[in-house]
Amino acid sequence: MRNYFRIVSAIALVVGSSPAGAQQATAPKFDRSGVPDTSIFAPLVFPTPSASRAASGAPGAHYWQNRADYDLKATLDTGAKSVSGEMVFRYTNNSPDTLSYIWMQLEQNAFRKNSLSSEVYSQGSRWNPGNFEGGDKLTRVEQIVAGAGGARKRVPLTIREGETMMRLPLAEPLAPGKVATLEMAWNFVVPEHGADRMGRDKALFEIAQWYPRAAVYDDLRGWNNDPYIGQGEFYLDYGDYNVSVTVPAGYIVAGTGLLENPKDVLTAAQVARLDEALKTDKVIHVITADELKSGAARPTKSGMLTWKFRAKNVRDAVWAASPDYQWDATNYKGIYAFGYYRPSAADLWVESADMAKMSIQEYSERWFQYPWPQISVVEGPVSGMEYPMLAMEDHSQSKQGLYNVITHEVGHNWFPMIVGSNERVYMWQDEGFNTFINTFSEARRFPKDGDQMQRAMGERGEVEQAMRTDQDGPVMTPPDRIAEPLLGISAYVKPSVGLQLLRQEILGPEAFDETFRTYVAKWAFKHPAPADFFRTMEDASGHRLDWFWREWFIENPHFDQAIDGVRLVSKGDTNNVLVAYGNRARGVLPIRARFTMSDGSTQDFNYPAEVWSTNTLRYIRVYSFVGKKVAKIELDPDHRLVDIDRTNNVWTAP
Ligand SMILES: [Zn+2]
Repeated sequence: MRNYFRIVSAIALVVGSSPAGAQQATAPKFDRSGVPDTSIFAPLVFPTPSASRAASGAPGAHYWQNRADYDLKATLDTGAKSVSGEMVFRYTNNSPDTLSYIWMQLEQNAFRKNSLSSEVYSQGSRWNPGNFEGGDKLTRVEQIVAGAGGARKRVPLTIREGETMMRLPLAEPLAPGKVATLEMAWNFVVPEHGADRMGRDKALFEIAQWYPRAAVYDDLRGWNNDPYIGQGEFYLDYGDYNVSVTVPAGYIVAGTGLLENPKDVLTAAQVARLDEALKTDKVIHVITADELKSGAARPTKSGMLTWKFRAKNVRDAVWAASPDYQWDATNYKGIYAFGYYRPSAADLWVESADMAKMSIQEYSERWFQYPWPQISVVEGPVSGMEYPMLAMEDHSQSKQGLYNVITHEVGHNWFPMIVGSNERVYMWQDEGFNTFINTFSEARRFPKDGDQMQRAMGERGEVEQAMRTDQDGPVMTPPDRIAEPLLGISAYVKPSVGLQLLRQEILGPEAFDETFRTYVAKWAFKHPAPADFFRTMEDASGHRLDWFWREWFIENPHFDQAIDGVRLVSKGDTNNVLVAYGNRARGVLPIRARFTMSDGSTQDFNYPAEVWSTNTLRYIRVYSFVGKKVAKIELDPDHRLVDIDRTNNVWTAP
């Protein structure tokens, strides 16, 4: 989801008037009398390692996850503004447990009157479904089982619906290693405003959360059947998808996967342009504005056409359709980068295919190779939402604004489409990590607007301001429990700053990058939990980081370093300086001190955060300078850290 929350939270920060929380620093405590160790440095207890999840943070020797393969057929009725669907769904049980039912998601039910979503989120919210009366109408749910003599038998299933979830009792228990085959048919009216994750605008349809999707059964929580309310996104298993989308012949369709039948739905000239787009660095106009105007954009004008897409090893499939889509194409190392937009958006969107291309290039080169054959960015009413191989964005106000949203939504292909974490519970594991990798991509496209470090420091300032005004919260809070204006800080910016601090101030860029790549590679196409991330980062970097996980992700302490006192003792030519560094909040960070000497020269002294481990309140150092005196000492002079009170950071010689 897009990161414009930063704007929202900035407003909230100005409006919010509560004073900064006075947090008491905690004295070091040792477990000498049965008193628990409450220090920020106390060992953090992670869940016990299992056959599924190793103590190193890697998937265990017997790691398992279930698999969901879909053959989907959709028909768009542009008059009734509805979608009717049919699917053959194969669910593979790789768990060690026999399953007697499957939980599936019916997210269109969020658009029923009096849905939980409409009650939780206010009318003005981006997620309130309004007064629209929608919802999934299931017309057929059957399991295909082996009958007498090996014949296939259809068994109708009686489902139980609750909010956006349904429970399917299986006709026969699904043993470990076995596959259940189900067939379903359903339809729904497309909401105009689909909680900003799908919807329509005049003739344009952006279709997502559109078929019954299997919930994840995992080794940590069993069935993850938390309802879809609004802010919490999706947790899905991987599988192969065949998607057929039948639309009026005048429509152009973008979708997850590779188009299987271009010759059926495009003109011969357009098919040739698609081929050309793989052989050039330029952007090729596959469907042009002139063709849309003259009526030459489509091979036939009447009846319906079926667009067929095929996608392998993805966790979802979506599509968008419009009779007005211009279609641009280019490639990065043989991977298509597509842009789809209406002529009204062409002023900025003419760069969209190239922006998508630069995004997959950036993330592939730095973190993990993009694994799919194409990336599409589609223009429409949804202001920023990610799906495998397809990102939805609105028109935007500027090239920078458009790139920031495109590279954010495309970046989600790494988190959570490749690294498949549980978004509904741990939003930071995709939004925060994605916000972090976006800073490199934004700096690559617009270097004059600031390099990666400057962008990272801008985010640091946002977190600092949020802490000063008590507008921050623990990163670990599930998204549907965070007040909407604070979501940007808690789930996007703060976890991103956590990675920036780890990279630039704690581990160093080289060690961090290698370690973070290890995390992505180990958990690609799998389901890492927070502890798997924490353990991997420690295992691969060689740093114990209990204190950092606790202060940055689990608890919500503030940070306030100070210069508590300075003593000067001179003997002849030698000037001795004793500095008492103070820590006046619970959180600890490295010390960055700059000494300015009487001759105007400067000297920096840096200490790791662990110097606070035996005494979290005070750290004392003695320095000797021959032939020069200290005129000024300043903590964190370059604002590389987070500090809610900088007035106590400076000492000047009397
Ligand atoms: Zn996002």
